[in-house]
Amino acid sequence: MPHWIIAAAAKTTTTPTTSDSSNPFQSVLDFFKSPTWHFITLMFFFFLVVLWIACAYWVFKDARRRIDDKIVLAVAVLTGIVFGPVGLIVYAIVRPAETLADRKEHQLEVAMMEARIGEEERCSFCKTPVHEDYLVCPTCGRRLRSACPSCRKPIDPQWRVCPFCEADVHAMPPVFDRV
Ligand SMILES: [Zn+2]
Ligand SMILES: [Zn+2]
Repeated sequence: MPHWIIAAAAKTTTTPTTSDSSNPFQSVLDFFKSPTWHFITLMFFFFLVVLWIACAYWVFKDARRRIDDKIVLAVAVLTGIVFGPVGLIVYAIVRPAETLADRKEHQLEVAMMEARIGEEERCSFCKTPVHEDYLVCPTCGRRLRSACPSCRKPIDPQWRVCPFCEADVHAMPPVFDRV
């Protein structure tokens, strides 16, 4: 066999190996084809899916506690499902500050406060709105408070001392007839 054929044959067999070592990205390309990379990609997508589901679930759970309107609730849940972590951030920014339980409690407190104010400002007999320094109800004439015998300011029958003039009202008979 002539010498040049052997040389050519040797060259063709060694060609792939020489080209492999000459390409600096070959090892990188090999890595992307390796099972390790395949596993990493698989895990990445797995965690992404888990994260996505967790975000959508959190939005759903939180929105149910805060949103009463069914359509708004559906939009919030859809945002969580479609946009995942980004949807969660957007939802966290625009969500109502109060939960439904908080709102109910707040409304109850306001209603109780209004009822208390209403009670204080009305005549207990005819329900006419009265001022806290009225001695008698202007509508039915019913006595609301007595007057201090000394300074004539309205005082509670249970008070011992007039808070305005320091008179001992307990010792003096209350002035009912001169109002
Ligand atoms: Zn009255
Ligand atoms: Zn007084």
